[in-house]
Amino acid sequence: FRAANFVRELEPEDFRVLVGIELGQRRFSHVPIDQISFYCRYPRPETQFRLDKLHKLGLLQRSSQLGYIGYQLIFESYDILALHALGEKEIIKGVGSPIGKGKESDVYFGQSIDGNEIALKFHRIGRTSFRKVRKLRNYVKNRKHISWLYISRLSAESEFAALQRIQPLKLNTPAPFAQNRHVVAMGLIDGQELSTIPQLENPKEVLDEILMQVERFFLEAGMIHCDLCEFNILINPDNEIRIIDWPQWEESTHPNALSYLKRDLENIQIFFTKHYGTTFEIDEVLRTCKLI
Ligand code: ADP
Repeated sequence: FRAANFVRELEPEDFRVLVGIELGQRRFSHVPIDQISFYCRYPRPETQFRLDKLHKLGLLQRSSQLGYIGYQLIFESYDILALHALGEKEIIKGVGSPIGKGKESDVYFGQSIDGNEIALKFHRIGRTSFRKVRKLRNYVKNRKHISWLYISRLSAESEFAALQRIQPLKLNTPAPFAQNRHVVAMGLIDGQELSTIPQLENPKEVLDEILMQVERFFLEAGMIHCDLCEFNILINPDNEIRIIDWPQWEESTHPNALSYLKRDLENIQIFFTKHYGTTFEIDEVLRTCKLI
């Protein structure tokens, strides 16, 4: 993980310039040098020197298309800022190898400050698709300029908030440790995606457990996952389920709660019917949740 090496090698001035660009990206897609210089409070020559260095290292995107020279962070430099902050706050002390590549994230092994293995999820929205932006669009409706930085951070904040809200209920989700920018540090799950398991030994029990969790998320936490499917359910070696990937969640009081929960349940029903010939009554769950 190249970003982790940069966290060790970059100088404090480099970090400050990266943060200057980050701040500037709230208003500009490519931040002009004067603005960067203003945000990091370095004279222009020092700012320019740092920008050239960071650009040469491949950590910045430079563009003159807007009629001026402007700079933008790339995901790697945003990773560096988040890892640096998580290190400074004494939350993590290292990043290891990749665990999984999601549709809108990269997940890595990490090491917490007390030496435990954790999972580090780097949200990367806006890189390829905007599938998850439906929910986030509400937050950004009134903004002229929406950067991938901002969307990815919102996605991480949303997921972390979900995990925090569920934690005291002791349901089957990863423990939340910390969030900085677009990165969520959470409990590592030793498990395999339901979709990749050739044959469950106890499909009916697994299905019942999923439905019970879904009901409890709804009734006890007031939450709907909104992206539930066989790719977001991990099965651990004890055949227990863990439900991951929460950025899309919605409140159980949302006006569309019925259709959101129904869609989650339909995904589960389709998977279990197709692979195991086991099914369940969606309406029964909806009645338990008092949606019908
Ligand atoms: P995306 O929303 O981008 O699809 P996911 O949250 O589904 O991202 O994560 C992608 C993959 O990373 C998962 O399928 C899983 O294999 C792995 N993963 C995610 N979170 C964890 C975790 N806490 N522990 C272990 N593996 C995880």
